[in-house]
Amino acid sequence: MFTVGIDVGSITTKAVLLNGRDWRHVVRPTGCSPRQAGREAFEELLGQAGLAHNDVSCVIGTGYGRISLPFIDKAVTEITCHARGAHHLLEGADMVVDIGGQDSKVILTDSRGGVINFAMNDKCAAGTGRFLEVIAAALGADVSELADLARGTEPVQISSMCTVFAESEVISLLAQGMDKGRIIAGIHRSVACRVAAMAERLGKGDRIIFTGGVAKNDGVREFLSRELGREAVVAPESQLAGALGAALLAREKPVRKER
Ligand code: ADP
Repeated sequence: MFTVGIDVGSITTKAVLLNGRDWRHVVRPTGCSPRQAGREAFEELLGQAGLAHNDVSCVIGTGYGRISLPFIDKAVTEITCHARGAHHLLEGADMVVDIGGQDSKVILTDSRGGVINFAMNDKCAAGTGRFLEVIAAALGADVSELADLARGTEPVQISSMCTVFAESEVISLLAQGMDKGRIIAGIHRSVACRVAAMAERLGKGDRIIFTGGVAKNDGVREFLSRELGREAVVAPESQLAGALGAALLAREKPVRKER
């Protein structure tokens, strides 16, 4: 039985094809058309596996662009999909900390990956991947380089909470001759503190998995673990948690629209 989960995020679109214990995936930029990105990711995934749409029992869409996908059988919220997928990536996880492109969320999960409670910041770019992208651009770096640039440095205090003000603060710190690595470490700490505060308001996690694209940033992971007082575990497929959860839910509760 083949099922597909597609997570159309603000920055990347992730698609997972699940077949028994095996799964494969595609990640591509969402760009300016979530609908097209979702369609292309789906077709690429089917093409790689040599399958047609009809070979797939159920396709579930999630992420902010899920409503724009005409070919899915069902749309499910990101919270439900992330919880399910993250639980699959880390057995026994009871807290999911997800930092994506335009939001961050913390989800408390039960022993089956169901949602007990959650908190979300989708009102402000601070504490999200976008914040890191803005700062990386101001420093002439790529987000994928940030962790290495900051490694082993003492974080500088970043006092601005707002992305726009933090960008100005970073530019003025650079002008004062502050070390780039220390500035980046300060930015990592500021993202981690914001999200950890949200987690603390929600409750306590014993086994924490860190998901979303920002989980690829080892600097944020380190500060997050420090702030939470527990290791925030990153799986190699952490960015795929939402799409994987959607594919798992498609297998567990399949629905099929007329095709
Ligand atoms: P969305 O689902 O909202 O599209 P993602 O979960 O895909 O977002 O996360 C996107 C964010 O992940 C980017 O804004 C960036 O900060 C971060 N990111 C993506 N790739 C990397 C990488 N290789 N190294 C560090 N950070 C990354």
